[in-house]
Amino acid sequence: MIFCILFLVDLANPKVFSVNLRNFDAEKYQVAYQMTKNPNFTRGEVDFYVNYGLFIRSANGFVSSFYPNTVFISSTVARSADFDIVIAHELGHIQHMHFSRSSDKKLEEAQAEADSFAAKIVGKDRVLARRRSQGYSEDSYLIRNLKK
Ligand SMILES: [Zn+2]
Repeated sequence: MIFCILFLVDLANPKVFSVNLRNFDAEKYQVAYQMTKNPNFTRGEVDFYVNYGLFIRSANGFVSSFYPNTVFISSTVARSADFDIVIAHELGHIQHMHFSRSSDKKLEEAQAEADSFAAKIVGKDRVLARRRSQGYSEDSYLIRNLKK
């Protein structure tokens, strides 16, 4: 029961269980901030939060239509070497406005588009390596999209 309530609070207001990336790791915040200045990203200022909630345990990072221009990443990702890949991928979702109500993209298509965006920022090889490490096969839509 407590778990359910926490999960709902988490879903409703992820910032309750988050710390600003600036306070979590100032150097990593700088890396993320510089990505928002990449010419491929044209959506302006972005806030970054490290989330400790329950919802994010099923995801590495997320963006939500309720929090425009805000990226949430898990604390595991925030400590990992793939940190910048996940940030770049989430910025891809913001760049392509996947969570606006007018977006009718399928999840897989949106994931591929966010990956393509990340590839422009951190390089195709690193995004490919991460997808392979997550178990995606060479025939999968996401890997084929990156190899195009
Ligand atoms: Zn995604």
